[in-house]
Amino acid sequence: MKTALVCGAGGFIGGHLVKRLKREGFWVRGVDLKLHEHAPSQADDFVLGDLRDQILVRAVIDRNFDEVYQLAADMGGAGYVFTGAHDADILHNSAMINLNVLDTCRARGVGRIFYSSSACIYPEHNQLDPDNPDCTEASAYPANPDSDYGWEKLFSERLYLAYRRNHGVECRIARFHNIFGPEGSWEGGKEKAPAALCRKVALCPDGGEIEVWGDGLQTRSFLYIDACIEAMVRLMRSDFVGPVNIGSEEMITINDLARMAVAISGKSLAIRNTPGPVGVRGRNSDNRLIRAKLGWEPKAPLREGMERLYRWIAAEIARRHNQVG
Ligand code: NAD
Repeated sequence: MKTALVCGAGGFIGGHLVKRLKREGFWVRGVDLKLHEHAPSQADDFVLGDLRDQILVRAVIDRNFDEVYQLAADMGGAGYVFTGAHDADILHNSAMINLNVLDTCRARGVGRIFYSSSACIYPEHNQLDPDNPDCTEASAYPANPDSDYGWEKLFSERLYLAYRRNHGVECRIARFHNIFGPEGSWEGGKEKAPAALCRKVALCPDGGEIEVWGDGLQTRSFLYIDACIEAMVRLMRSDFVGPVNIGSEEMITINDLARMAVAISGKSLAIRNTPGPVGVRGRNSDNRLIRAKLGWEPKAPLREGMERLYRWIAAEIARRHNQVG
C-alpha cells in the first residue's frame, strides 16, 4: 500500500487532499496544529502537533513516505497577510516548518515532496494594472513581492530547489492562485474574498448593504478546490518540477465577485466600498506553462464554484443558528 503524509491536513486544501488520497487507496497520515474545523479528517492517522518542533517532525516523518504534501503555513486572507501586523509570525513560523519538514524528508529518504507556494511571490510592479497583470512563472525575478508572506514563499521555493540540487530530494512546487470552496475558513479574519463575500451576503437582510474592501476594482482569479487538487496530484506524479502556477485565468473585479454572490443569493443588496487591506491591484493566473507541461486547465466556470460555496456557507450559518436557537 502506498503511503502519504499531508502536513496541514487540518486546513482547507489539506482536508480535501486527504479525501482524494484515501479514494486512491493510500495509507494517509495527517498532521496539523488543529483538527479540521468543518469535516472530520479521513486520515488513517492524524497527529495533532506543531511542525515548528523538530522532534515532532522526526516522529511524524518516521518512514520513507511515497508522497509528502507540505501545505502547513501561517497564512490567511488579506485581513491577516496584508496589514503587516503578523509579518514576524508568518516569516518565522512558515520558514521553521519548511526547514524542519524538508530536512527530515532528506534524512528519511522520502520519495517526493510537494510544496505549496503562492501567487503572492510575484513582483508588485507587474501587478499595478488591474487589466494586465503579469504572473508568468519567469517574471518572479528580480523579486519584489508585496508581502512578507510572499517573501517567505519565495525563500522556501529556493530551499526546496536547493535540496533537490544538492541532496537529491525530489520536489514539486506549485504557486496557488486563490483557491476557494466549501470546508474552508469563512469567518474570523483568515477567510479569503469569495468566502468573506458569500458570508456577508448570506447574513445581510434583503434590501441591505454589504461592505467590500478597497474600491472593488482590484482584480483576481479564483480556482475551485476540486480543480486545484487534480492539478496538484498531476504535478506531483509528473516529471515536471515547477514552480508552476495552479490557478484560473477567469479574472474578475472584487466588486463583480460581490455582485455574483448577491445574484446567487437572489437578494437585492447594495455594495459599499470601504477602506481595507487589499493587496496588489491586479492578479491573474497565467496557465500557459501548466497547459504545456501537464495538459491541465480548469474546466468549470467561477460562477459554478461560487454557487457551491454560497450554498455551503448559508447552510453553515443556518446550522449554527439552529444550534443557538
Ligand atoms: P489553511 O490555513 O486552511 O491550512 C494551513 C494549515 O496549516 C492550517 O490548518 C494550520 O493549522 C496548519 N499549520 C499552521 N502552522 C502549523 C504548524 N506550526 N504546525 C502544524 N500545522 C500548522 O490554508 P490552505 O488554504 O489550506 O493553504 C494550504 C497551503 O497552500 C498553505 O501553504 C498556503 O500558504 C498555500 N496557498 C493557499 C492559497 C489559497 O488560496 N488557499 C493560495 C496560495 C497558497
